[in-house]
Amino acid sequence: MFNKIYKTIKKYDTIVIARHIGVDPDAMASQLALKETIELTFPKKKVYAVGSGGMKFSYLGKMDKVDELHDFLLIVLDLPDKKRLDFDQLEHAKEIIKIDHHPFIESFGGLEYIDPTATSTCEILMELILNTKLKCNQSITKKLYCGLVSDSNRFLFNNASPRTFSLVSIFLKRYPFLLSDVYNKMYLRPLNEVRLEGYIAEHMNVTEYGVAYIFLTNDTISKFKADSASAGNIINNFNFIDEILVWVMITEDIKNNNVRINIRSRGPEINKIAEKYHGGGHKLASGARVSSFEEAEELVDDLDQASKKYLKRSENNENS
Ligand code: AMP
Repeated sequence: MFNKIYKTIKKYDTIVIARHIGVDPDAMASQLALKETIELTFPKKKVYAVGSGGMKFSYLGKMDKVDELHDFLLIVLDLPDKKRLDFDQLEHAKEIIKIDHHPFIESFGGLEYIDPTATSTCEILMELILNTKLKCNQSITKKLYCGLVSDSNRFLFNNASPRTFSLVSIFLKRYPFLLSDVYNKMYLRPLNEVRLEGYIAEHMNVTEYGVAYIFLTNDTISKFKADSASAGNIINNFNFIDEILVWVMITEDIKNNNVRINIRSRGPEINKIAEKYHGGGHKLASGARVSSFEEAEELVDDLDQASKKYLKRSENNENS
């Protein structure tokens, strides 16, 4: 499959690399790393990495603006379903390649490489580079490393496998750099965000079955000079809390006139529940958008039921 992807890339003069709305480091780093490796290998090709936002991750690079294009190859990264594609010219693409590590949802009609066991789309790109004639350098490696570290939450998730560590080892040996160079950019955050984290820790509710949740109104996040996306960054810091199995940030997003949901879990699978509320994601890390705090309350109830079942199952397993 990697060879087929390489051959398809080789065929096209114009290539657009797209990803999901609500950009995150893996989505953006994978786009920019793939763009750079294609440009390095085929200097005459025109390659565009497209999508909105990304200012927060400007240490990775910049998104490109494109006019109307035709006869191009579209490579979609880090996205399992068309509805969250951050690019409005899907139908103009002559051919499509999809590379993703989310559980499969729908086909985009073209070559697809889906590996839900990979930590990140960046990890899959490392394999693509190693298995084809695509060239690499230190700058590409830094981007791939950023995306991988971010989506595996610094190798904390179970999908950080021996393969992940081998790939990282190969790339760091070939294209070494100071890890602190990357971490100092990735993890630098304003004091206000840390204060918001303190507020969340202080005010979150925890149900009988270990579901922690907090409603963050626009007034509250404005007081901390934060935006609705900040909660998305903060959620990963609430892992490994004894009393909490599943945790949810429910944030009013006045810009999009809806409510942003970030969910994480240490056990119960949450992606099917996120899908029920127009969202999705991974078994233990998902997100959604709902129309109101009332709808979010229903989601919390569903998570609580899933957590209850999970605890019962674990108890039965311990007793058997
Ligand atoms: P986040 O909490 O934003 O870091 O997202 C965690 C995971 O859930 C990522 O894999 C996202 O792609 C996915 N996700 C987040 N929001 C949505 C949504 N509205 N619809 C589908 N998937 C989502």
